[in-house]
Amino acid sequence: MKGRAGHGSFEIPLSVPHMAGNERRYLEECLTTNYVSSVGPFVERFEAEFAAYVGARFAVACVNGTAALHLGMRLLGVEPGDEVFVASFTFVASVNAILYERATPVLIDSEPHTWNLDPILVVTEIERRARLGLKQPKAVEFVHILGHPGEIQPVAEVCARHGIALLEDAAEALGSRYVTGSYAGTHVGRIGRLGCFSFNGNKVITTGGGGMIATDDERLASRARHLVRQARVPGPEYIHDEVGYNYRMTNLAAALGVAQLEQLPAFLAAKARIAAAYDTALSGVRGLTRPPRASWAAPSHWLYSVLIEPASFGRDREAVRRHLQAKGIEARPLWCPAHLMEPYRHLPYLGGGVSQETFAKGLSLPSSVSLAASEGERVVAALLESPAEG
Ligand SMILES: *Cc1c(COP(=O)(O)O)cnc(C)c1O
Repeated sequence: MKGRAGHGSFEIPLSVPHMAGNERRYLEECLTTNYVSSVGPFVERFEAEFAAYVGARFAVACVNGTAALHLGMRLLGVEPGDEVFVASFTFVASVNAILYERATPVLIDSEPHTWNLDPILVVTEIERRARLGLKQPKAVEFVHILGHPGEIQPVAEVCARHGIALLEDAAEALGSRYVTGSYAGTHVGRIGRLGCFSFNGNKVITTGGGGMIATDDERLASRARHLVRQARVPGPEYIHDEVGYNYRMTNLAAALGVAQLEQLPAFLAAKARIAAAYDTALSGVRGLTRPPRASWAAPSHWLYSVLIEPASFGRDREAVRRHLQAKGIEARPLWCPAHLMEPYRHLPYLGGGVSQETFAKGLSLPSSVSLAASEGERVVAALLESPAEG
């Protein structure tokens, strides 16, 4: 099935890698030169080209996005006893990165316009703490989910006013930008002190596994470069000046990254075409809400996700998902908000039921770069014909 072998039983998978450029050539080069591990020219080349693409002074490559986030917490000095504000409605790695440093995530509800962190909840809580002289969070981790930028400006402003660090989890949103206002032309991940990205297999571009930290801060960038290599002091002896990590990306992974980054504009164009076709086919369908599309944002359309209103659509998200599965089409629920899951239930939570409701109704549809127009039509037909339960 068009090079999609190994992606399970689905004829139309949710989101699979697309290796259509120089991947093979660059991997050959790694093998020929014997630079396969974390020394080699592709790692620095990938960092430089990535930094140029997102408009950052520095980029540091890591083994995966979770490692990039964890390193981000270390770089910002997050420690036990500190709090970090983070969206509850995210892939769980955003929250785990905080817990790895034994700090306390304060889980925050989403807003209904883009499904991202609700800036009003963040601003209100920080201003309340300021008025009462209470301890502020060490950092705010702003996640941009599903390829759509969040409403970050009020959060960036309140953080700046109170000296709170801002880190962006842009793992799902490479290629997304702001198009109006003071951030016009700015890529996600470029507003906070640090922006973290992922190149996992299902993300916009992939290195098999990989991540990146982007920043303009030279001191943080060089500290990151030090920590990913076990904090080893240069020289022949094994001298380490702090507790580091083995988080460096390999040359093999970076070779894939360079090849994938070359194709990113084409990938984004394909995703925009896929989203536009779904938009047209699904416009005006009762009980079905199309994905967020704010006028101030240029989303990457990473995953095309809809909300299904059981009463008016006639069946719920799970019934639709099962019907699609029976037709060989992979659709996936969004994430269970962290505050509703066992390991995170005890953590502080701010907000109401927006994230829970979005979880209950949300379903991501196949959005691979390689999705053919005819496959998109099959998805729409199966979605609309899915029978009512019972
Ligand atoms: C994928 C993802 C991560 C983790 O990235 P990995 O490369 O899989 O470790 C972190 N945050 C979000 C929001 C993600 O979607």
